[in-house]
Amino acid sequence: MDDCIFCKIIKGEIPSYTVYEDDVVKAFLDISQVTPGHTLMVPKKHVQDIFSYDDELAQAVFARLPKVARAIKASNPEIKGMNILNNNGKVAYQSVFHSHIHLIPRYGNNDGFGMKFEDHSKQMTDEKYKEIQQAIVNQFK
Ligand code: AMP
Ligand code: ZN
Repeated sequence: MDDCIFCKIIKGEIPSYTVYEDDVVKAFLDISQVTPGHTLMVPKKHVQDIFSYDDELAQAVFARLPKVARAIKASNPEIKGMNILNNNGKVAYQSVFHSHIHLIPRYGNNDGFGMKFEDHSKQMTDEKYKEIQQAIVNQFK
């Protein structure tokens, strides 16, 4: 895609700190470095978001995650864990509309990365869970 910053990085038209590359994906340092080693893995094929992957592309891209994650972890003994995130849609904080997976190494609780999960289970009922469950299950029919 012409006007896509990650397609330009993939083609080498914009520089990047590439850490891994093969025929399917490119992984490079995120310019923001939320924590040291913060890496983006992107499919070389331009797909906007998770909703646009077919099974074949998904298998190929996601199969490569563990080896990139292991390499990042092994690169620094201070890395204790890793958050792997994929934002889809503006509302979910996607700002570059070429699908990408964030690999964010974790060094401790105050290392610059934060995430909030609110527990709304107290507002739920068995009926509400089942209604949500059924709406999703119906999509596979
Ligand atoms: P998201 O908000 O999930 O769409 O993430 C987009 C990410 O791309 C952000 O974390 C940016 O820091 C990163 N980014 C944008 N431009 C570049 C670039 N030229 N090189 C590396 N990372 C970039
Ligand atoms: Zn693109």
